[in-house]
Amino acid sequence: MDIADSPAHGDVTEDVNSENSLPHPRPAPAEQPYLPEGVPSTSGPLESSRSDAESLLDPTANEATASPSRPRSRAELYAIVSQVGEGTFGKVYKARNTVTNMHVALKRIRMESEKDGFPVTAMREIKLLQSLRHKNVIRLFEMMVSSGSVYMVFEYMDHDLTGILSQTQFNFTDAHLKSLCWQMLAGLAYLHHKGVIHRDIKGSNILVNNRGELKLADFGLARFYQKRRRSDYTNRVITLWYRPPELLFGATVYGPEVDMWSAGCIMLELFTKKPVFQGNDEISQLDVIYRVIGTPTHERWADAANMPWYELVKPKDHVPNHFKELFKKWMSPAALDLAERLLDYDPSRRATAVQAMEASYFIQEQPTAEQPIGLATLEGEWHELETKRERAKKRKKE
Ligand code: AMP
Repeated sequence: MDIADSPAHGDVTEDVNSENSLPHPRPAPAEQPYLPEGVPSTSGPLESSRSDAESLLDPTANEATASPSRPRSRAELYAIVSQVGEGTFGKVYKARNTVTNMHVALKRIRMESEKDGFPVTAMREIKLLQSLRHKNVIRLFEMMVSSGSVYMVFEYMDHDLTGILSQTQFNFTDAHLKSLCWQMLAGLAYLHHKGVIHRDIKGSNILVNNRGELKLADFGLARFYQKRRRSDYTNRVITLWYRPPELLFGATVYGPEVDMWSAGCIMLELFTKKPVFQGNDEISQLDVIYRVIGTPTHERWADAANMPWYELVKPKDHVPNHFKELFKKWMSPAALDLAERLLDYDPSRRATAVQAMEASYFIQEQPTAEQPIGLATLEGEWHELETKRERAKKRKKE
């Protein structure tokens, strides 16, 4: 299957309707490996016998018994080590390449609930990732088909930000946090330069490896946008806690600024170790934001009154801005200043990724950024899934 040829997704001329529907579903992929450009094909056509799939999917399979000789099929090439995530379209596994011994992440694309063939979100993610190559964006090595299941094969990352911030063994210094923040912004600057809005920036979609490298992942909601002409998109994107005010006010015309609000939330979370705006629904989400940064006034966001849901969601009472007094115990003045520029109500005034990278927090203020390479000494791997499991275990004990 040549996904790049699909009429379905990622096209810069998409309109709002094509966001939610796949107009011409294609049949399930043929059993040929799809390789992103530049990735050499190392084996012949795929076999997809039942035993291949079983060996691939059996998490209890003894890794050590995997044949060191050349595997017969692509599926046999990987031995599952453990499950590390539960994504939008299926489970994510850590697996070992039995030839190179390198680890990869296998993301299984759930096909069962799809009436119309290949899932549209997966199609979009593949097409987008195919066009991206940056050290702060997750690398898709290849696609693999086994027994009717399609897998995306990614470079493996030891942790995600939600997981790594919840552990207490390794203490991040201010220089480490600066590096993580910088790497996130560098990834976003690249995406926005390539005309891609991520639309789901949050802790579990930001991956970190033991070398202290950070990479943006999960492009299931991402899309290309028109740089010169603003189009209409859905506003039901971005996980609630990281969703910017303009989307909560019903905006359907928006750009990469939506990612920058989420980046501001992540920056605060790096310091406080917890998501800062935890609402239960759209209205309470806005209330939580109001209580921290105050209510939007005409001076702060002149266009607010023109937003589609303004009358429904506008603040009832005036609340002053408490941002600096709430966060100054965690953050330096330059860090506070940058976070505040990312969390600007007015999307047209919100710092872009490039502007954020030029902030005095990075350019002038000490300490300079330092990649957290010491993570290699950390015991275990920290993904959101493990963090959730640990929490559930603790709750049971109590
Ligand atoms: P996703 O469907 O991309 O949101 O992935 C769900 C979860 O799986 C993420 O929150 C990560 O914890 C984990 N995960 C995704 N991709 C990778 C990867 N390349 N390496 C390691 N873990 C990953």
